[in-house]
Amino acid sequence: SLDFKWIRENRDAIAQNIQNRNTIADVDLVVQLYDKSMALNQEVAKLRTDRNRVANAMKGKLEPDKRQELVEEGKRLKDVLAGLEAELTVLSEQLQREGQKIPNMTHPSVGVGSEEAATVRKMVGSKRVFEFPPKNHVDLGESLELLDFEAAAEVSGTKFYYLKNEGMLLELALINWALSELVKKGFVPYSTPDLVRSSVIEKCGFQPRGLNTQVYSIEGTDLCLAGTAEILMGGLYMDRILTEKQLPLKLVAFSHCFRTEAGAAGSATRGLYRVHQFSKLEMFVICKPEDSEKFHEELISIEEDFFSSLGLHFKTLDMPSEDLGAPAYRKYDVEAWMPGLDRYGEVSSASNCTDYQSRRLSIRYRPAENDPLTSRKGKPPSLRFPHTLNATACAIPRMIVAILENFQQPDGSVLIPKVLQSYMGGKELARNF
Ligand code: AMP
Repeated sequence: SLDFKWIRENRDAIAQNIQNRNTIADVDLVVQLYDKSMALNQEVAKLRTDRNRVANAMKGKLEPDKRQELVEEGKRLKDVLAGLEAELTVLSEQLQREGQKIPNMTHPSVGVGSEEAATVRKMVGSKRVFEFPPKNHVDLGESLELLDFEAAAEVSGTKFYYLKNEGMLLELALINWALSELVKKGFVPYSTPDLVRSSVIEKCGFQPRGLNTQVYSIEGTDLCLAGTAEILMGGLYMDRILTEKQLPLKLVAFSHCFRTEAGAAGSATRGLYRVHQFSKLEMFVICKPEDSEKFHEELISIEEDFFSSLGLHFKTLDMPSEDLGAPAYRKYDVEAWMPGLDRYGEVSSASNCTDYQSRRLSIRYRPAENDPLTSRKGKPPSLRFPHTLNATACAIPRMIVAILENFQQPDGSVLIPKVLQSYMGGKELARNF
């Protein structure tokens, strides 16, 4: 549920935020619709009282003339009320629709602008200096028989791929390694449905429909292919009331992700960089509002530790306002160096969505009795919206790009990072079979 009163009180800050994030939403229209619906609500409430008053008056003994007068008055009130109630329904729907378009607010430290306004939070390692011309992951993957784009193009289309031999083992090794590290840290493991209702996608702040939607829909149903486990994890506690004791919930989900990549820039069309389907391990946290910044730091540190353990050179960016999407209040991206592509590429992302998703998904929690923010003398504490955070633990395709391109050897083989070797039957190298 959106807090329209808050929106009304903060309309200038919200208008500025919409402009900073370069999104399309109209806070003035939302306030107008809200005021109109409040006025209409009052009118409806007054008419209901009048109608009840007339109904009560008719219960007693009455002169026929008086009774007739009341019958007519009752009928008139009923007709007017029916008209206004229908109007109110339309207005409320429009208010919700317009209100949903308003993006989350933005952390004050976030840079305003597009990609160039990102600030570097951390830089680890340096670009490897090659004593031979490095190959890109497509050439490496094909010559080592780890990847098959040709067959996938025939069978499923472009931007699909088969992983085979050590390519496939590498996918499972990455997932198993990252998963076991996260389970050790107390994250609860999940695997999730691939299909999800479009209403849940919307409640998480994504657009399942429209010209440039990233979402595949299943014809004749209200189901879509999930683009990320974040949606399934958000949906897990939809319409539920949690207790303060249950928080924080630290979850990690393995899922397949499906993306149309409509409107994606054409630079990396060949290879694994931008594909329609991939496996991903995703962290998801539901916590008390006052803890979300702390968990955001924890999640990005976990990501940074993973990339350091793999021996990759990477930087972490505090993403600017135009790059946040609708739900994120603040977003950190990790970009790893990809020598074959000769650029840094985004490999992971960690977002603090504050109460943006919990409001829409109606996830609430009951604070402990002694919470000074919510408990008043003699009254039970009122419900609060928790904060949600999501962060990539391991998104397979770009991890494979980074590993193949960074750890290639002069003889064309690829060194498997130490931490993954025990998950690949002790293999140190990926080489041609
Ligand atoms: P996102 O859920 O969009 O924040 O993406 C999380 C991570 O998934 C990114 O950092 C990438 O590593 C990966 N990713 C996103 N989209 C694609 C894609 N189309 N192809 C391959 N990997 C992707």
